[in-house]
Amino acid sequence: MPTLRTLPLSAATREDHLARLRATSPEAPLDILIVGGGSTGVGAAFDAATRGLDVGIVEARDWASGTSSRSSRLMHGGLRYLEMLDVKLVYEALRERDLLLTQTAPHLVRPLRFVFPFFHKVIDRGFIGAGVTMYDAMQSLGRRRAMGAHRHLSRRSMAATFPSLDDEKIVGAVEYADAQFDDARLAMMLVRSAVDHGAVAANYTAVTGYLRGDDGRVQGVRVREESSGEEFDVHARAVILAGGVWTQEQQELAEADGGLEVLASKGAHIIVPRDRIRADAATGVITKTEKSVLFLIPWDEYWVIGTTDTPWAEDVAHPAATADDIDYILEHANAVLKEDLTRDDVIATYAGLRPLLQPVAGSDGASTKISREHTVTEVAPGLTAVAGGKWTT
Ligand SMILES: Cc1cc2nc3c(=O)[nH]c(=O)nc-3n(C[C@H](O)[C@H](O)[C@H](O)COP(=O)(O)OP(=O)(O)OC[C@H]3O[C@@H](n4cnc5c(N)ncnc54)[C@H](O)[C@@H]3O)c2cc1C
Repeated sequence: MPTLRTLPLSAATREDHLARLRATSPEAPLDILIVGGGSTGVGAAFDAATRGLDVGIVEARDWASGTSSRSSRLMHGGLRYLEMLDVKLVYEALRERDLLLTQTAPHLVRPLRFVFPFFHKVIDRGFIGAGVTMYDAMQSLGRRRAMGAHRHLSRRSMAATFPSLDDEKIVGAVEYADAQFDDARLAMMLVRSAVDHGAVAANYTAVTGYLRGDDGRVQGVRVREESSGEEFDVHARAVILAGGVWTQEQQELAEADGGLEVLASKGAHIIVPRDRIRADAATGVITKTEKSVLFLIPWDEYWVIGTTDTPWAEDVAHPAATADDIDYILEHANAVLKEDLTRDDVIATYAGLRPLLQPVAGSDGASTKISREHTVTEVAPGLTAVAGGKWTT
């Protein structure tokens, strides 16, 4: 199995890689050029490089500066997808989580236990308990389990594990195992590892156009190196667009006929000091909201609490939490806490954008596979877009 390595990406390496991108030509193209250095792009670069392909990756800003450094940082199967009976997705995500935890990146992914509080003794213990039992069982289907089993907590043992939970309203809980990771750091590790396996990588290098051959096939990109403003062509046999919420903008730049329509949905988080919520060192909370779930996640000296799901029509490069987002998160966190958090406790916020994808009307539906996992579509001959899904997968 390919492993992650820590080759430094110095300024000198970047200069060397820009020179190698500049040196490509129609006669000597890369096998693959990847546009976008988020989890999708760096993951694709690592995968392609470890298969021996000649691969290049360019990122307009810094590595993982888009959604990939603005996630909830959970390496998880997604318990809530079981409610939608998306068993395959959860199974795959749990397998990826355990591979990252035990083999690929054990130094960057760490176990984290969650309590799921019950408000109704019989219904919640039956319904949520059954979901967690299934989640747990799927971790040991055909392989050795990487994490401990779930356990049911009485009101009293829940209060001992998590003193800040409101034990007047909450009648008990189930505690289960998942994992957390540093998203930006894992992206850096993936791009360094891809480089160590031979990939050519340049950040602050934005795609400004797409090169077409006489047959109309995409055969590379035009890029702008952002510190000098220099523009040059990079030639490649195939281009992968890993542009997240920028996917539609890039398709338009490529003058693609079909592809994906992309709407941005914002997820915000608030950060509060660790001492505002008392709990066991490595235990978070998951609680249901009207639309989805809310997580209270321990993170060093802080708690990260989120997330939301609202449309975002402003600049996709700068998503931000609004006062309404903060109040929504506080309201749902306070529904499980003994002592209310207030706006004064919030020391920071951040927000990320999920691309909501659907095929452009009139495009060839047969070339598009849309699912909650991710979407792969051939946008134009030689140009394939990959978007959506989760960091974990
Ligand atoms: C609020 C929120 C919480 C989440 N929490 C979790 C979680 O806990 N666990 C989990 O597994 N998943 C989570 N996800 C999902 C996960 O974060 C995403 O699936 C993942 O980060 C998407 O990565 P990406 O590479 O597709 O997109 P991005 O990270 O957005 O990458 C796209 C990149 O393309 C670059 N780009 C754009 N235009 C150009 C150009 N012209 N030239 C070159 N580069 C360009 C951008 O700068 C950007 O870096 C969460 C998502 C959100 C929104």
